Amino acid sequence: MSYVLVLNSGSSSIKFQVVDPHGHTNDAPLVSGLVEQIGEHSGAINVTLRGGEEIREELEIPDHTYGLERAFEIMAANKVGPTDVDLIAVGHRVVHGGIVFSEPQLIVDEIEAMIEDLIPLAPLHNPANLDGIRVARAILPDIPHIAVFDTSFFHALPPASALYAINNEVASKYDIRRYGFHGTSHEFISQKVAQLLDKDPDEVNQITLHLGNGASAAAIRHGRPLDTSMGLTPLAGLAMGTRSGDIDPGIIFHLVRQAGMKVDEIDTLLNKQSGVKGISGVNDFRVLREMIRAEDQDAWLAYNIYIHQLRRFIGAYMIILGRVDAITFTAGVGENDTEVRQDALFNLEMYGIKFDKEANLVRSKEARMISTPDSPVKVFVVPTNEELAIARKSAAVAESAREAGLY
Ligand code: ADP
Repeated sequence: MSYVLVLNSGSSSIKFQVVDPHGHTNDAPLVSGLVEQIGEHSGAINVTLRGGEEIREELEIPDHTYGLERAFEIMAANKVGPTDVDLIAVGHRVVHGGIVFSEPQLIVDEIEAMIEDLIPLAPLHNPANLDGIRVARAILPDIPHIAVFDTSFFHALPPASALYAINNEVASKYDIRRYGFHGTSHEFISQKVAQLLDKDPDEVNQITLHLGNGASAAAIRHGRPLDTSMGLTPLAGLAMGTRSGDIDPGIIFHLVRQAGMKVDEIDTLLNKQSGVKGISGVNDFRVLREMIRAEDQDAWLAYNIYIHQLRRFIGAYMIILGRVDAITFTAGVGENDTEVRQDALFNLEMYGIKFDKEANLVRSKEARMISTPDSPVKVFVVPTNEELAIARKSAAVAESAREAGLY
């Protein structure tokens, strides 16, 4: 059995999974874990083995190198370290691939430099992704490392949705366009939906709703992206856990002029202190739901704004697609919150959406239909698995690299 190590490096954390790229969507990874609070006094490494056993070690983790090396040692002590298994690739999640990367890339020094050049477009994410790449390449130099970009799937957006109606010269000078994010998830989900409909992806028009802490919607026509709610950055579109989503850009000028706020303060306000959390104080929908039950007015308002934004995007995407075969919910909120799904599609029979309230209440880890079988627009819940998608793409690139004699 061969495996791919999938790494998702943040500024103070590294998430990892060792995945069988040929496995089923619901297979547990061989081992998964999280290195957290890197650079702080009280760090921790959590490792979960396939059988469910969890190992937690609390220690100071000065940097990414130390954290990843220690995680590998814990894995090795349990016979699932990188040298204990047949590791064919290391797949790195990279948030921003700019206009240059439409496909996953075998990481060589030149690719690393190009990812570095993209830092101005993703100052919050690409530096941390790059740290993870450098550290992992140094520790595992003989294994192919592959960068899988969150933006790649949306590289094919048509100009009318990729470009903003702002001054052309400024836009092209500063690479301003809609890049879109969560692409690996939208692509994975949309392919699964085509399978569920027993059709080729090219034949399907669909809307995919990735509702996690970050949230995005995508309109996909004949297997290709037509539009998506995130933009130059993941701040745009739907109201999210802590991000505002779409706002009048004039609000930023107003805050600069009237509140004397600095750019970084506004960045933090809109990315970390807004969205559902900015209104209710919490961003976890389980807590939000409890607060709504306890008749907390702010929680109720936050929820209504969230649903209103979601319905706006669904409506817009139905019109730009013209014909819609399926609408699909995925990620933490989309897979678990039955009320979000029902409220997002409430009372839309005249648009061909016959929501099945009973089917919606069934709890499952499997992909499932939650519209009536005769609904012209089918509605699905499909669990996403970005790690598996990254593992599959990485395995394919590693295979080509081996065929080309590079490894
Ligand atoms: P991320 O964007 O961080 O990858 P996830 O897709 O894991 O996020 O989604 C995390 C969010 O999913 C949580 O913040 C929470 O709001 C929501 N969530 C998770 N489980 C449930 C549940 N059982 N019911 C409602 N919401 C849930």
